Amino acid sequence: VIDTHCHIHSKFFELDSDQAVLDAHGAGVSKLMVVGVNAEDSQAAIAFAATRENTFATIGVHPHEAKDFYSQQAALRQLLETKTADIVAIGECGIDYWYGHSSREDQLLAFRTQLEWAAEFDKPLVFHVRGSKDDQKVAFRDFFALVDEFPNTRGVVHSYTAGQASLEGVLSRSLFVGVNGIATFSKDNDQLEALKALPLELMVLETDAHS
Ligand SMILES: [Zn+2]
Repeated sequence: VIDTHCHIHSKFFELDSDQAVLDAHGAGVSKLMVVGVNAEDSQAAIAFAATRENTFATIGVHPHEAKDFYSQQAALRQLLETKTADIVAIGECGIDYWYGHSSREDQLLAFRTQLEWAAEFDKPLVFHVRGSKDDQKVAFRDFFALVDEFPNTRGVVHSYTAGQASLEGVLSRSLFVGVNGIATFSKDNDQLEALKALPLELMVLETDAHS
């Protein structure tokens, strides 16, 4: 079992990170991916993974933090150039219209640049896609439109909580789907039907463990 998405390296993680790794291994989780959400946090992810067995780092800017992308992109680009072998994927990146912490314009720009990096450095991506409270689909529309500009894009749509309509688009692009604890308590029928329709070979598991 691999935890494909967690944030236990983060300075905001309140538990003992090393104990979390030990506990995960004890519970049968053989590998963990620690996911960066901004430049500083991505650096921390690389440092964390470099000193621990079976732990792998991703680097990127979360859509919530897209408003600061301009000031972070040089540092991230430098990480990609100097630490390529230590980086298994780009992300967490994508689109989030639920909280609106960053404008749509900033989010699209940050996401497009990270898709460009993935193509240039031949990396898969870790996607975060979440619609607004009234419309899940608009985020996926924007997401698919951008992804389709980069035909060789590969990666995982993490913490999938959308319904069947968006799942078709995800599967037709051969993207993986990250499933976490939300799937165990959701009462959303459309979401539960989507999870049932998800082929096992495209499903990956994650805790999304964070502070
Ligand atoms: Zn995350």
